[in-house]
Amino acid sequence: MNMIDIKNAVYEYFRRDEEGNVTGITTAVDHVDLHVKQGDFIAILGHNGSGKSTLAKHLNAILYPSEGTVWVNGMDTTDDEKLMQIRQTTGMVFQNPDNQIIAQVVEEDVGFGPENLGVPTEQIWERVEESLKAVGMYEYRKKSPNRLSGGQKQRVSIAGVLAMHPKCIVLDEPTAMLDPGGRKEVIRAARALNDVEGITVILITHYMEEVIYADRVYVMDHGKVELEGTPREVFSQVDKLLELRLTLPQVTLLAHELQKAGVPLPDGILTRQELVDALENIMRNKR
Ligand code: ADP
Ligand code: MG
Repeated sequence: MNMIDIKNAVYEYFRRDEEGNVTGITTAVDHVDLHVKQGDFIAILGHNGSGKSTLAKHLNAILYPSEGTVWVNGMDTTDDEKLMQIRQTTGMVFQNPDNQIIAQVVEEDVGFGPENLGVPTEQIWERVEESLKAVGMYEYRKKSPNRLSGGQKQRVSIAGVLAMHPKCIVLDEPTAMLDPGGRKEVIRAARALNDVEGITVILITHYMEEVIYADRVYVMDHGKVELEGTPREVFSQVDKLLELRLTLPQVTLLAHELQKAGVPLPDGILTRQELVDALENIMRNKR
């Protein structure tokens, strides 16, 4: 059984006039198939408006597909009896940490979720401790969230979700409002959840360099999955990615330009080190 199975899902937003007559339809999710195994780190990429958030909201039954089916850990999201269980299986982290942090002290904020679930007090503190440690924020537990940087706040939001013991965490553009340092912190924390805690991670972003460690990458446009594969497979398709209005990592663009100019580089260079190694290799063979 997969953690997530999306089969042929369609979601439409209806625009209506004052009388309630439908004046237009946006197909925000257009026949999407997506499968995520337990323990996978999946990335969903796409330009603004490509349908990423709408798809994400299907993963904890905020929205339901109008066609097709979404299963979370084997549970059909339209099964009302499973609603609580589905929402506990997939935790969601959103773009703006300021909207997700409620308490005046970090540790209280992280304890809020498990408290709402009715977890006994003693266990709440255990969960708060382990969650804050998992995102590297334990030493800030007594601080006020207002005094933290954006990256730190976002890690506290992640800890808050983690404290509810989800099997899967969906992060919807968690780094969009952060500076480069904060973005790195959050991505590092997300990777640790996956590597160390074994939690299934679905990272939604439009920063391509954040997805190079993913097991699998999906690229959406106009509600459709336009590209799918390992990071290297996806990053090999530079022209297609540019057409989908994604900003590629500098090093991938540079490698692509060099390739076009006749330098025999492999496809899908992801990091500076890979480019250096590949160029060294070429030089060595020339000597
Ligand atoms: P993304 O997260 O990739 O930016 P969204 O899922 O937010 O994309 O949006 C996909 C499409 O659905 C866009 O065309 C957007 O304008 C439209 N849309 C999103 N939310 C709503 C809504 N609540 N009502 C109507 N249209 C919406
Ligand atoms: Mg979005």
